[in-house]
Amino acid sequence: ATAAAAVLGLVVGALIVIAARRDADPMAEMQDALDNGEFIPHYQPILDIDTGRILGCEVLVRWRKPDGSIVSPGAFIDQAERSGFIFPLTLALMRQAAQELGPTYSARPKLKCGFNLCAAHFKHDGIITDVATIFGASAIQLSQVLLEVTERDPLDDIDTARAIIARFQGMGVKVALDDVGTGHGGMSYLLKLGVDVMKIDKLFIDALGAERQSTAIVDSLIDLAAHLNMDVVAEGVETFAQVEALRRRGVRSAQGYVFAPPLPGSSFIQLVEAMEPA
Ligand code: C2E
Ligand code: CA
Ligand code: CA
Ligand code: CA
Repeated sequence: ATAAAAVLGLVVGALIVIAARRDADPMAEMQDALDNGEFIPHYQPILDIDTGRILGCEVLVRWRKPDGSIVSPGAFIDQAERSGFIFPLTLALMRQAAQELGPTYSARPKLKCGFNLCAAHFKHDGIITDVATIFGASAIQLSQVLLEVTERDPLDDIDTARAIIARFQGMGVKVALDDVGTGHGGMSYLLKLGVDVMKIDKLFIDALGAERQSTAIVDSLIDLAAHLNMDVVAEGVETFAQVEALRRRGVRSAQGYVFAPPLPGSSFIQLVEAMEPA
């Protein structure tokens, strides 16, 4: 009996140690959560403000804890990027989106699905094979995929990033520069990376119609996009006044709470099927 008690004590002790280690090691905790299906994609619609039609969505990750609470990416994305967990996480989101949206998207080939990548993704060409594998065999076509690279974080090697972007474009994948106006790149990323789409940050959209200087920045970004043959998407559009200000400037694509927040898959699919007959 004492031997059994000792073994039990060891087992309990080991479990406590494992639990403590998992608590102390965010990478291991996030990997467990991924295995457990706790990271789920939400989908924020992107609309054509001229026609009211849905052009596609941006995938935004949510961490749904076992207690049902939802954690926003602001609380864990930095950690995920620092630890390298962002690589398996991104692929898992792509697989889930491909599976969940596949039937809806294959019936509507013009819809786009945007994924956020981080600076580290643009250092190695591994991401190219991964994207080709996932979407080569899925009901979402490569031509429906948009990859977003943020200008918020510095790209260590701009030539490698540019080469990776060009190879994506060769596969029919579109690439967007995200958070334009906020970041390290300044104009240089816009000029050097050769992206297809410019996403103008909420910071500037907020000021549309209010502050003259920010309005001037938006005007020059739109002008630059036209010269560089890029599409423009306005981010974080919250009011009808902003929609009107964008319309006057000829910007057609927008996303923001004025239209819809990021939605769970079932709600986004319902919305698309109601608004966009196949
Ligand atoms: P982001 O890529 O700039 O995404 C847009 C953020 O603005 C999202 O926040 C979205 O929910 C929020 N948003 C959209 N419309 C409005 C609006 O009208 N008003 C306001 N106030 N906010 C709006 P979220 O989902 O919390 O994501 C925050 C950031 O986390 C994202 O910013 C992105 O940088 C990062 N992120 C999210 N999902 C992923 C992911 O799967 N991978 C990577 N690498 N980063 C991600
Ligand atoms: Ca984004
Ligand atoms: Ca953004
Ligand atoms: Ca942003």
